[in-house]
Amino acid sequence: MSDKIYDVAIVGAGPAGLSAALYAGRSRMSTLLIEKKQDGGQVSITDLIENYPGCIDGETGPMLISRMSNQAKKFGTVRVKDTIVSVNLDSKIKTLQGEKEAYQAKSVIFALGAYPRQVGCPGEKELIGKGVSYCATCDAALFEDMEVFVIGGGDSAVEEALYLTKFARKVTIVHRRNELRAVKSLQEKAFSNCKIHFMWDSVLESLEGDGILEKAVFKNVKTGDIKVFDAPEEDGTFGVFVFIGVIPETKMLKGLVDMENDYIITDETMATKIPGVFAAGDCCKKSLRQIVTAAADGAIAATEALHYVENNFKEDATC
Ligand code: NAP
Repeated sequence: MSDKIYDVAIVGAGPAGLSAALYAGRSRMSTLLIEKKQDGGQVSITDLIENYPGCIDGETGPMLISRMSNQAKKFGTVRVKDTIVSVNLDSKIKTLQGEKEAYQAKSVIFALGAYPRQVGCPGEKELIGKGVSYCATCDAALFEDMEVFVIGGGDSAVEEALYLTKFARKVTIVHRRNELRAVKSLQEKAFSNCKIHFMWDSVLESLEGDGILEKAVFKNVKTGDIKVFDAPEEDGTFGVFVFIGVIPETKMLKGLVDMENDYIITDETMATKIPGVFAAGDCCKKSLRQIVTAAADGAIAATEALHYVENNFKEDATC
């Protein structure tokens, strides 16, 4: 373990973590930002950002995240690629144990994000990357001029269905109800796109294929009717893109901080019940999960972490 004790360690480099790093670095806190994969979390696999203030003219998720990362770096954030596997938050100095190293900090901000929920039907797991995907930006091009199904009726499903129409010849949104959850402006775009079709009141029952997706079975939840889709002969396969919400990445904090349905409970200062421990972004219990709210959480958490460190580590001050 390094001797270095940071003022703040931030776990997760999505919009919440990057915004926290920007605010912490700008307040001259020594700041460590730990990320296990690429920066951006969910945003890094989002095609079009239309509702983050100032993002106009077709800004993509990766473009926005790249600017956020550069901005955080500019203010001195130390970056580490590591997966935190356990934490010790009991002492005044918190320890984060990574796969590679252990890190110490006076305060911690967990900006852990969330990962895509799976349908859980037979065949889904086996066919991931062989027709089943959770990322249109990553995999849409594989289905050029083919048929794809999008499972879900929220913002992600509709937004990604619209993106998929740039590649696929037909996109069918399969939703378990007869009314979309997505915001009205997205619904309007989807309803007026001639490539988008709807299978209402339906769920995905099973997927089949020998090394590649060949068959999908859907069930109408109202009538019980079963619909089988076989890969068109000329294509040999088709796509199933699943966007049915996300699950917070909070497993490592279970039993340590208060949670509801696996989402971390914070107060309005993004503080958990543990002094010096904050949370921000999609891993928190909140009413609106958007880039703008994640970024706001990060800014608040970093500002409060600064106050916490100033008030609790006065002995460190030098003249
Ligand atoms: P979401 O809003 O939770 O929507 C999930 C959708 O999947 C809902 O339509 C839900 O149906 C359906 N669903 C859930 N579990 C299912 C299951 N087991 N089987 C079949 N269908 C299931 O999730 P999301 O679209 O991923 O969005 C997550 C958050 O990110 C939201 O807060 C969203 O607003 C935000 N987001 C925002 C944007 C944007 O602003 N541009 C883009 C993407 C995401 P019901 O409707 O029946 O519950």
